[in-house]
Amino acid sequence: MTNCIFCKIINKDVPTNFLYEDELVIAFKDIRPLAPVHVLVIPKRHIESVKDLKDGDEKLAGRIVMVAKKMAEQLRIADSGYKLLWRVGDDGGQEVPHIHVHLLGGAKLSENIRPV
Ligand code: AMP
Ligand code: ZN
Repeated sequence: MTNCIFCKIINKDVPTNFLYEDELVIAFKDIRPLAPVHVLVIPKRHIESVKDLKDGDEKLAGRIVMVAKKMAEQLRIADSGYKLLWRVGDDGGQEVPHIHVHLLGGAKLSENIRPV
């Protein structure tokens, strides 16, 4: 996707702080951190969101989670705990339409979802 900021990061057209890369995914620091550790893990293939995952994408979805787990270990927040956040679509607050999981940690995180 030519106009996608995350595809530009994958293609190295936009510089970023790469933390990890393999054949399926990359991980990099979020440009506007919401926690002391704020990393994004994204697939190299442009997929808009979780709602667009298809049968056969299990390996890719699993890799995203496993890399988030590895990043948490590498950044030494595995024992203190962390949050993995997938925003999906408008109501989910998703701004960048390229699927990503947020890894947030390094401090006690506020719970901003309230009972309805
Ligand atoms: P979301 O609201 O779940 O779509 O989150 C998108 C995230 O991407 C936000 O936390 C942004 O701060 C982050 N972001 C947007 N552009 C960049 C960029 N060029 N490099 C790193 N993170 C970015
Ligand atoms: Zn993209």
